[in-house]
Amino acid sequence: MRIVCAGRGFASVLFLLLGIIAATACGGDSGDEITTRLITAVPADATPTLAPGETPTPLVPPELVLSAVQVYQAGAVLVSVTGDVKAGTATFLGRTFTLAKGSQSMFAFVAVDTEDSPGPHPLRVDITMPNGSKGTLEDTITVLKTDWTVDSLEFDSQTSELLDPKTNADELALLKAIYSGVTPAKLWDGPWLMPVNGVVTARYGEQRSINGSAPSGHHSGTDLGAMEGTPVTATNSGRVVLAKQLKVRGNMVIIDHGGGLFSGYCHLSEIDVTEGQMVHGGDVIALSGNTGLSTGAHLHWEIASQGVWLDALRFTDGTNGF
Ligand SMILES: [Zn+2]
Repeated sequence: MRIVCAGRGFASVLFLLLGIIAATACGGDSGDEITTRLITAVPADATPTLAPGETPTPLVPPELVLSAVQVYQAGAVLVSVTGDVKAGTATFLGRTFTLAKGSQSMFAFVAVDTEDSPGPHPLRVDITMPNGSKGTLEDTITVLKTDWTVDSLEFDSQTSELLDPKTNADELALLKAIYSGVTPAKLWDGPWLMPVNGVVTARYGEQRSINGSAPSGHHSGTDLGAMEGTPVTATNSGRVVLAKQLKVRGNMVIIDHGGGLFSGYCHLSEIDVTEGQMVHGGDVIALSGNTGLSTGAHLHWEIASQGVWLDALRFTDGTNGF
């Protein structure tokens, strides 16, 4: 059986409670065919009690849909399960992502980290049906290598205190705690938008040589050139969960887009939203600036899924398949 795919990488599996499963998928840009199969299916522990004359409502078989079957390091695959599913998790490269309730499916942005190994890796999705049945769907996602650039930076003595590893570690711990939360609902809606129109001055993942040191680390966001006072807009809809001054990132806003997906906006000169506020994609949330550890006015833009920092540009350039 062959299913015709629309658009980029797409995978599909048909799940039947008691049957042997046949499944097919399209192979995205590569044109390769990928076989998807069910590896376990546990029937309900009891047949639902029906009133006299009542007929059972058939379950809609779950179907696994991937936005792409090839993804770059620091990219993400939007993993969706349609049909009658009430809960689930997706496991990839040793990380487990909680599925959240979408408009027509359950979903998670399955993240690929900066240092994850290129090549094919198994994806496992464990699901629970409304009647308590459990099942597992699997597929394969191929990680593509990203060549990280290196930038040399000079900081003067006034800013050197901000290079204290503990200062940075404390801030990263705060962000990691926020980014690891999962709101079990879809707050984002539609395409992911650039927060300003400025040119990219430093890509996500870029390695840095500071004051002549050996290149290390990976830049945790995308730097976009923006004059001080440039309006900064929300990359998508969601709830503001942080709006305050930090030491390294300066004035920062974080938006929770639901399903464990967050965006962050840093070095702001002015914050125009408050924590708890709902915003729409494209709404002005702040003005760009040069606060915190910054050598000139710009916007540092972050995206993270369930605790993994990602390349925000891959949410707007189509390489994640959405
Ligand atoms: Zn930056």
